[in-house]
Amino acid sequence: MKNIGIVWFRNDLRLLDNEAFTNACQSSDFVLPVYVFDTRTFLGKTSKHGFPKTDHHRAQFTIESVNDLRQSLLKRGSNLIVRVGIPEEIIAEIANITKASWVFCNREMTSEEIIVQDNLEKNLWKMGRELVFSRGKMLYYTADLPFPVMHTPDIFTSFRKEVEKFVDVRCPLEIPNNLKYNPNLNIEIGNIPTIKDFGYNEVNHHSQFKGGESQAVKQLKYYLWDTKHIKNYKESRNELLGWDYSTKFSAWLASGSISPKYIYHEIKKFEKEFGSNESTYWVGFELLWRDFFRLIGKKYGNKIFQEAGLASKDVRYTGSEHDFKMWCQGTTGIPFVDANMRELNITGFMSNRGRQNVASFLCKDLNISWVKGAEYFESKLIDYDPCSNYGNWNYVAGVGNDPREDRYFNVIGQGKRYDDSGKYIKHWLPELKELPNEFIHSPWLLNANDQAKYQVVLGKDYPTPIVDMKYLQKLI
Ligand SMILES: Cc1cc2nc3c(=O)[nH]c(=O)nc-3n(C[C@H](O)[C@H](O)[C@H](O)COP(=O)(O)OP(=O)(O)OC[C@H]3O[C@@H](n4cnc5c(N)ncnc54)[C@H](O)[C@@H]3O)c2cc1C
Repeated sequence: MKNIGIVWFRNDLRLLDNEAFTNACQSSDFVLPVYVFDTRTFLGKTSKHGFPKTDHHRAQFTIESVNDLRQSLLKRGSNLIVRVGIPEEIIAEIANITKASWVFCNREMTSEEIIVQDNLEKNLWKMGRELVFSRGKMLYYTADLPFPVMHTPDIFTSFRKEVEKFVDVRCPLEIPNNLKYNPNLNIEIGNIPTIKDFGYNEVNHHSQFKGGESQAVKQLKYYLWDTKHIKNYKESRNELLGWDYSTKFSAWLASGSISPKYIYHEIKKFEKEFGSNESTYWVGFELLWRDFFRLIGKKYGNKIFQEAGLASKDVRYTGSEHDFKMWCQGTTGIPFVDANMRELNITGFMSNRGRQNVASFLCKDLNISWVKGAEYFESKLIDYDPCSNYGNWNYVAGVGNDPREDRYFNVIGQGKRYDDSGKYIKHWLPELKELPNEFIHSPWLLNANDQAKYQVVLGKDYPTPIVDMKYLQKLI
């Protein structure tokens, strides 16, 4: 009797360097790839504030990613079974119908994902079948780290120094040659849902993010080999406008369409051919932040999602629901904040500089709980990742464990520093396009004559600030 292994694709929508997929191909006679759109994720709400858990940009991106995965499998003589529902029930049912011996998957480690994999494991055990876990999210393997996960240093720099000194990044796994698909298994293939099935209208692509492994590999090739933008990454990474100032790998990393190990080794190849500099090093440095937050998430468990954060700090927030709404809409009357929030709402993306600023503004200036902001990001971001999102919010809100990370961002000073000419602001807030430099970061200073001259009537064309004027004056 031949052994059948199911591969349950989750946030690892790729064939290259996919340990679960490779394991399945090595240890089974037949391999059945499956993806389930979890209705709790695609039709559910965020836990506290009730935003759509996956807003349209990420839903569309995931649909594209799954389509791309199916095409790659088809090209190699395999296919992808697709369902919409509850993965732990559907996968167990497919295992039962096909008499599969094992289900292979990459292990997730945040609470909601753990519940799903634990439930599936129990359902499989009831049928005498097994869930086999692999790893594949990080640059480093936890087994290779010079400390147990529960002793991960709380300070990023200590963490970085230890791993860089003692650990090598393993080589990525090749795509298996034989995908061992059995077309005679009596199982319906299933259609890939459309965005309308998740309650959204067609998404107009306002950004260049398109889901799927083939797009991820294309972007890597573009950023390294075609344009060599990587050589200037350190200088350009704090810019705000355009596609090329940073790698834009995040959405593909979050969906698992590309592995960090693969990126790292491509950078090493690039350095061999074209030389290394601080910028080529710095992309790997940023990928280390991603590993760091994942390990911190593992070490502190659900604390990363709680208001008191990793530091268990009792912070009282007194800001209003009205101000939170204005922040979400990008109508606070502070152009630098509003431009960033409008970019997020229109494209599903915001630069790292922007994220730090709007996050700091929400919890430190508006005095609104960071958890609300994190939930809004969870809903909207095309690159949402539980550990990176909630981990970064912990640090910006000052409830992380690294005391040096409790920073305050003066959103007006930052706007002037990173968008001196106001080009970014004018791109996302066209109503301010006539404003000269002296007013672009503080339109509330326009008198009635200026408002007429520059065609911006405050309170009509652009909001008056929701923050006290005296307070704002101190930030200028
Ligand atoms: C409040 C807040 C929330 C965030 N939420 C997320 C999130 O949900 N998902 C996410 O991927 N990133 C998140 N980030 C981190 C960072 O803003 C994005 O990874 C980055 O802007 C994505 O653009 P890029 O791919 O061009 O990044 P690059 O600057 O090109 O960096 C390369 C890669 O390194 C990783 N990286 C860079 N900075 C960080 C960081 N601070 N923390 C973790 N990983 C990092 C990302 O995987 C990124 O793709 C958040 C940051 C803040 C301040």
